[in-house]
This record gives sequence, structure tokens and C-alpha cells, in this order.
Amino acid sequence: MGVGAGAAATVTIPGCSPKKDKSMDDADFSTAPVPLDKMTYRTDEHTHAKVSLLGYGCMRFPSKTNEKGEDILDQEAVDRLIDYAIAHGINYFDTAPAYGQSEDVVGISLSRYPRNKYLLATKMSNFDPSTWSLEAAKGMYHNSFKRLKVDYFDYYLLHVVGQGGLEHTKTRFIDNGLIDFFMKEREAGRIRNLGFSFHGDVAAYDYMLAQHDKYKWDFVQIQLNYVDWENHGDDKGLDASYLYGELEKRNIQAIIMEPLLGGRLARLTPTALAMLKKIHPDLSPASWAFRFAGDMPLSLTVLSGMTYMEHLQDNIRTFSPLTPLTADEKQTLKTIADLMLHSELIPCTQCKYCMPCPYGLNIPEVFAHYNRCVNDKMLPKSSADSNYEKARREFLYGYDRSVPKLRQASHCIGCKQCEPKCPQGIAISDEMHRIDKLTENLKQNLPFDSAKEDAEAAKHEHH
Ligand code: SF4
Ligand code: SF4
Repeated sequence: MGVGAGAAATVTIPGCSPKKDKSMDDADFSTAPVPLDKMTYRTDEHTHAKVSLLGYGCMRFPSKTNEKGEDILDQEAVDRLIDYAIAHGINYFDTAPAYGQSEDVVGISLSRYPRNKYLLATKMSNFDPSTWSLEAAKGMYHNSFKRLKVDYFDYYLLHVVGQGGLEHTKTRFIDNGLIDFFMKEREAGRIRNLGFSFHGDVAAYDYMLAQHDKYKWDFVQIQLNYVDWENHGDDKGLDASYLYGELEKRNIQAIIMEPLLGGRLARLTPTALAMLKKIHPDLSPASWAFRFAGDMPLSLTVLSGMTYMEHLQDNIRTFSPLTPLTADEKQTLKTIADLMLHSELIPCTQCKYCMPCPYGLNIPEVFAHYNRCVNDKMLPKSSADSNYEKARREFLYGYDRSVPKLRQASHCIGCKQCEPKCPQGIAISDEMHRIDKLTENLKQNLPFDSAKEDAEAAKHEHH
């Protein structure tokens, strides 16, 4: 799950024109009835709790504007979603201090239920160096109890382990005695399962797992989806198959995040979508991605950030019960993954970890606009293309509608302060220069290929 985007309820969706968000939006949903009591469960091997294989990621909920004109989470809408989820068998809820108002609204909503009706996960989101001391971190931990109105957490995570490298991870969680403190909290029963969410640096991942004998991780939360399974070329350590395999060796339970790769697997290209529809005309593309993630034997729960009711209903259908993928279906997903990896999409998951940019860029929105245009075949390439003029206009007008001018790629100064924060390893600065060059060339009516060449040249000069 992400860091900093807690209260955001408006992210963009495919289609060159900006629309009100629903992160899975252009995905089609099944119209089949939503089963009430068919949810698939896994058993937590430590607590023997029955855990719904579909977990509710509580980072993005619907928002509304209050009387002061502020954007706040809509408690009534959240209650409706959570009530529906519980009624249909979901019992795992994942939040974090870093998700803005999420802990507050989730605490209010879930506290209407008996404590044994739900499993609650929250995190140590001490990203700011001023919160790295043991006392400050304990303050964040105790505050989560208050906000969530509980006296124990079923799952407690060190948030975003690996980002910033191994030394950073040690400073935040180990050298200050924080993990020792959490181990005592686990002994005292206030933490039922202790683990971490991993984003990034594989040296930190390996190190943390090498400490398993000492810390006895109850679970680890990893990014896993059919595109990330094997997609990092020489850097195999970042493949989901590696992350999962290391847990398998130690028999550590996995909690799965990013099963939809930031929503991208719910919004496939027409070619990829047609491949899936040929096999199951009624199933949504998202359901395929969830089946891939849920099929893994170590998966305790698969998190999905369900902002709107149609997301929730579609996902409940998929998991009620979860139907394992056949060998042929897995092969189809592998083909789609290969197609996606060779496309021009920028692998931005909209997590917003890179924000804020000190120069005001809206990094995820710039990438979202670019990717929308790639998906919609509105990325102008050559002036010889039949739709060049239309694509050019769509790209330029859509860009201005999606991203205010002051927040566009042209304002990137290449400082790279954002790049170490990006779990996807995107060369943000280079991509910004490439998109800016593309935009400028389109304004001057030059084709895309020259933009690419110029960007390459600029890149070499830059280094
Ligand atoms: S490299 Fe560009 S996008 Fe990244 S922080 Fe610097 S100015 Fe912002
Ligand atoms: S550029 Fe990276 S850090 Fe920023 S939103 Fe995209 S994936 Fe997240």
C-alpha cells in the first residue's frame, strides 16, 4: 500500500480526457449477482484466524467537501462500503497513519462491530526523520490505537521497508530499538502478527528475512501481480517471484499488495482485453489479476483499494469463491505481461511516494496522462500516421485539462529528489524531459520520433 495518498479519492483514469476518478473505471464489471456467503478464506497459521482472501485496502475512500470547503473523507460512504464488505465476508482491513484520515474513518466505522468480527492491520509510517526516535515512533504507534479505537492490532507492519536502502531501514526500525519494542508488544498480545511491507531495495529485503530467526516475522507484505512476477530483467531480486520465493523458503505468510499494478491491470489495452474476453466474456480484467495473486498458497489475503461500490462488488464476485487459474489461463496472462512489458507505458502505480516535488510537478498525473494516451493509442508517433493530427490534439488538450500548466513536465529541473522514493525505479527526471520534449515538438507539429532522439541526446548530455 502507499504512503502519502491517504485521503486522496481523486486519481485519474484512462481515456485522454480527465474524468472523476474510480481507479478501475474503464474496466468493465461483471453483472452477475454478488454472492453473500461464498468468500474464500485462508487460515492464519499463528492465530488460526479465518482471513478473507480479499482484504480491504483503506488508502482511498470517497471524499466530500465540508462546510469550510475542505476535502474530507465521506464517513457515511465509508460506512456503507465497510458494511457491505463485512456482510459479504470480508474481514481484513488495512490502513496506516500515512493514509491521511483513513485511520479515523476506519476506526469509527469498524468500532460499530464487535472486535472479533474484523481483523485490523495498521503500520509504523514514520517516514519523516523527526519520527525515527523510539519515543516519536511509540507516539505514532499509540496514536493508532486511539484513532482506530482498539486495544490490539491483528497485523502490525513496519511500513515501506527497503525504500532508501538498508542503512535507512536499520536507522528507522532497528538501531533505535523499535523492532525490539514491537516484539515485546507482540508478546504482550497488543500485536497479534508482526511483519513489514516491502518496497524497493532488495538488499534490505534479504537482510530483513535473514533476521527471521530473531524477529520471527509472522507475515510479509509484498507487491505481486502477473506483470511483476518476472519483469526486472537482470535485476531478478525485484521480481515478485523472487520476493514470494524467499518467503516460501521460510514458510512466511504473504500479504499481497498491488495485485492490479496500480490499477493498470484493470485497464488493459484492447488487444490484451480481447484475449481475456475470448476465454471468459463475462469476467473483468481485474478479476484475472486477483485470481493470479490469490492463487498463491502463501497468500493470506490480497489487498485491494476499493473506492467505489462497483469495485467492491466485482472483487467479491471474484473471491466468492476464488477459482484457481488453469495452466492455459496462466499462459495467457504471461503473454499479456510480455505485451505490457514491451509497450511504451511508464510503470507508474500512482502511489505518490515521489510527492511532493519541490518544484511543484504533479508527477503521477503527468505519467497518468501519458499512459492514458498510450493506452488509447493517442500518443502521436509519426506525422505519417493516419490519426496523427487527432492524436496530437488529444495529447495536448488532454494534458492541459489533466495537469495544470505549472505542474507539468516542463517545470522539472532534473534535481532527482523524487527518484529514490519511487518503488518502481522510474527514471522520473529523464521521463519528464522526454515528455516535455514530446509536448514541445507536438506544439510545433514535429513527430514523436524526433522527440525521443532529442530526449536521448539530452539524457547523455545530462550525465
Ligand atoms: S527531478 Fe523533476 S520531478 Fe523529480 S523532484 Fe526534481 S523537479 Fe520534481
Ligand atoms: S512515479 Fe513512482 S513514486 Fe511517483 S507515483 Fe509513480 S510509481 Fe509512485
